[in-house]
Amino acid sequence: MSLIVQKFGGTSVANAEKIKGAARKAIRAQQEGHQVVMVVSAMGKQTDFLVSLAREISDKPPAREMDMLLSTGEQVSVALVAMAIHELGSAAVSLTGGQIGIKTDSSHTKARIQSIDTERMRRHLDDGKIIIAAGFQGIDDDYNITTLGRGGSDTTAVALAAVLRADSCEIYTDVDGVFTTDPRVVPSARKMDRVSHDEMLELASLGAGVMHSRSIEFGKKFDVPIHVRNSASFSDEPGTIIGSFPESAKRAVSGAALTKNEARISIVGVPDRPGSMQLIFSHLSAVNVAVDMIVQNVAAGGLAEIAFTVLESDLATALNAVEKAAALLNGARVTHDANVSKVSIVGLGMATQAGVADRMFRALAEAGINILAITTSQIKISVLVSRVQSLEALRAVHGEFELEKPPGDRSEFGAAPVKVERPSAVDIVARLQKMEELTIDNIRLDDSQARVTITQVPDKPGIAAAVFEAVASEEIMVDMIVQGTGHDGEAKLSFTVPHDSLKIALATAGQVATQLGCGQVTHDPRIAILSVFGIGIRTHTGVGVRMFNALSKAGINVDMISTSEVRVNVVVAADKGAAGLAALKEAFADVLG
Ligand code: ASP
Ligand code: MG
Repeated sequence: MSLIVQKFGGTSVANAEKIKGAARKAIRAQQEGHQVVMVVSAMGKQTDFLVSLAREISDKPPAREMDMLLSTGEQVSVALVAMAIHELGSAAVSLTGGQIGIKTDSSHTKARIQSIDTERMRRHLDDGKIIIAAGFQGIDDDYNITTLGRGGSDTTAVALAAVLRADSCEIYTDVDGVFTTDPRVVPSARKMDRVSHDEMLELASLGAGVMHSRSIEFGKKFDVPIHVRNSASFSDEPGTIIGSFPESAKRAVSGAALTKNEARISIVGVPDRPGSMQLIFSHLSAVNVAVDMIVQNVAAGGLAEIAFTVLESDLATALNAVEKAAALLNGARVTHDANVSKVSIVGLGMATQAGVADRMFRALAEAGINILAITTSQIKISVLVSRVQSLEALRAVHGEFELEKPPGDRSEFGAAPVKVERPSAVDIVARLQKMEELTIDNIRLDDSQARVTITQVPDKPGIAAAVFEAVASEEIMVDMIVQGTGHDGEAKLSFTVPHDSLKIALATAGQVATQLGCGQVTHDPRIAILSVFGIGIRTHTGVGVRMFNALSKAGINVDMISTSEVRVNVVVAADKGAAGLAALKEAFADVLG
């Protein structure tokens, strides 16, 4: 018998009417022959209300009591939903996280799921009951109630779908699905029929986030297709399926995102030797600041410069930590810029198509927008721009890739999904043990690339566009692009190309550099790119530190860095590639999935 998990967010159970609506949806699914597990959030803004209530009592409420308090929101809604189902003549049972047996660690207010018991749920389902599970909560070894962090009901839903091996996981919310970008900002944004887990992970914490990032990580890990749809739609309109496949196999870009409130911190005069990065990032991780975009370009004269972004709200804390680190790196100087935003394009197809970056850069240049920094991963290109131009930048790239138009070759919605091998129940139970811990999927060494760097790039629009248009016109596949900070007029633009394209890439870069008034073009015929790819790289602030630690211990200098949500790339000397790979494999041995 097929099994469906249906999750209803706060807005979808905000009042009695809506609760009855949710109950009807579940009953209908049951009448269509499915077993049904509902996962329900607290009503409306109840969790916010409980948080403010606690604040009236204490500035620093004990985390354990916070969880005791916050978990009541979901307990209210599951009971009411169960009543609504009874009222409509069907059988239902509400269960708290503890009653189901959702075991978590003891990190209150941000607990991580360790295991889920399915026995009790199976029993009720086999009795023909609809289960209404309280979202966002669990229980630790000592029976303390824990919560999974704000927005955590999504994670509960996907986790239950995974352990019950559900046929689908429907997330009912107040939006129609996942859009090509935030429709409030770009009115022409289009609802996608499908988006892949990987694309969604790269988009999720960028503000296109309709869902808790961790729930997408679960979805990918356990191969659960997630159907995001609007609970208010009477006609049961399909939403967006977040699954293994992108919407279109032919389009390079599927979505664009904006993180508005970023701040950039640059450190210049960093001694170019092993351990410098490790020192900086361990100071940041000690104060728990998540670093977003890291840009390190090749050093000059034994001194490197590194820039990264943090959320503007973390700027003061981050600056403090970085100043301390800089004091230990004799002569390093810290500068910052609070008014920057990050604009990104994401698409699985980008990995295999040339000429994506230059189109993005050209669109920005045509809109008169200067690029302050660039980083790339396989399926994402991010640029940093000044905040006043950020909306314009987002609109420009959204338009350039015609994201408002449906892909011509899209699969019909509801077409039978291609069957993929799903993990066996035994596998799932085994992996559950470390379900929410960091999993590093892959650590890779690519020594097929050479580096080209254009120095003294003028700090004005259009340069990156001209460079990559010229490179694309020679049909050179560019892998990694890093543009460093533009202060002191010392911006540097580096990119990597396959060895056999180096000659032509250098000639092309040389020509463009002269035309545009840049400085010298330097290169390195052999470099090693080490990439750590994994799920949870952003939610686990320690990944960068572990990585830089391992490389520093092995005496390996980091020449260049670029990052994305799910990947960190570093460039090291070609003859250090193998040793670097070994050091990273050892450092991540416990989490290498
Ligand atoms: N009620 C919790 C919150 O608002 C969990 C959730 O809605 O997902 O964060
Ligand atoms: Mg929510």
